[in-house]
Amino acid sequence: MKRSSKFITVIAMFLLITSSIYVFANEIDEKKDSLKEAEQQKKVVESQLQNKQLEESEIIEKIEALEMDIIETENEITRLESQISETVEKIEVTQEDLVEAEETIGEKNDTLESRLDTMYRRGNIGYIEVLLGSGDFTELLTNMDMIRKIANQDVELIEELEEQRNLIASKKKLLEDQQAKLVTYQHDAKSQKEELQVSRGTQITLRREVQSTIGHMAEELTQMEQESQSLEAEIQRLQEEERARIEAERKRAEEAKRAEEQATKEQAAKEQAAKEQASQEQTGSTRWPVPGHTRISSPYGNRTHPVLGGTRFHSGIDIPAPSGTPVVAAASGRVIMSQYSGSYGNVVIVDHGAGISTLYAHNSRNQVSVGQQVQAGQTVALIGSTGMSTGPHLHFEVRQNGSTINPTNWLRN
Ligand SMILES: [Zn+2]
Repeated sequence: MKRSSKFITVIAMFLLITSSIYVFANEIDEKKDSLKEAEQQKKVVESQLQNKQLEESEIIEKIEALEMDIIETENEITRLESQISETVEKIEVTQEDLVEAEETIGEKNDTLESRLDTMYRRGNIGYIEVLLGSGDFTELLTNMDMIRKIANQDVELIEELEEQRNLIASKKKLLEDQQAKLVTYQHDAKSQKEELQVSRGTQITLRREVQSTIGHMAEELTQMEQESQSLEAEIQRLQEEERARIEAERKRAEEAKRAEEQATKEQAAKEQAAKEQASQEQTGSTRWPVPGHTRISSPYGNRTHPVLGGTRFHSGIDIPAPSGTPVVAAASGRVIMSQYSGSYGNVVIVDHGAGISTLYAHNSRNQVSVGQQVQAGQTVALIGSTGMSTGPHLHFEVRQNGSTINPTNWLRN
């Protein structure tokens, strides 16, 4: 009973320890899984961040290209501006030339008109005056011819001048056309520059957005790294705890085992002491049933039967002694039988408790009665040869729970 309860305690303790270790291991596994997951998430964010950084560098390149384009366009605008002002100057000069040419033409026209006036418009009076002014008719004719010649020269000159004026005018027209084109170019360049500036603005905004995203991602990554680190620390702490716990449980189990061994030893010692004490008590209390007659004529066990012949089992020991010799109780107890019984003859049985009883047979006379309390060494009967007997002797039996045991061994205890 004691042993089995101890066994159950050990089993329960074992289960408790293993289950707690199991729970503990589970927790660590969970943390490890979380760590793995966190690391994977971190990698995802890292690659996303790299993509964003790539995107940003692409945007930066675009912005730089746009700025180059803007500078080029600005240069173009400046160049066009100077071309325009040059053209404007040229136009002004041409304009002046034109005015001058027209003035010259006007002057020449006036001269021609006055000549022609002189020649024709004054009518006959004029001619008469010229003619009157002439010395003679020949001189008159000469004068008229001269005037005609000069007038013709004037006409030619005017024609020349007009041609020149037309050239100047067309040159001016050309310059004006050129200026108009330049202004258009410049206008285009300006709107291109504006577009480039808008693009640059868009890219700058985009870059700011990407930078903000990168900032958030970097922050997230830092948080993830911190989480990973704290998880790692947590796992290390749990593992350390687990190691400590296992070590403690091992020590506790060792101590329990030592204690159990100690208890077993003590128990064994106690049992041994009790046994020794019991055997001492028994030795102290058992008596040889026929004092002064120690020879055993027939031992316990198989033997050749002295009366019936053949091998028979002998249920006790035979101690020969003269008739009338006192037979004593081998131990103290209570008489449970005292009578004549067939082959046993006069027989006494004494109960000693704990399932042990002794039997005394072939008595010439029984000296106790049923229910009587007897002490070890007290006479219970006298030697005889009643029942199935070959001569005066005591047939002595010891029974344990009704079955015979070797009396010699019992008496020795
Ligand atoms: Zn016998």
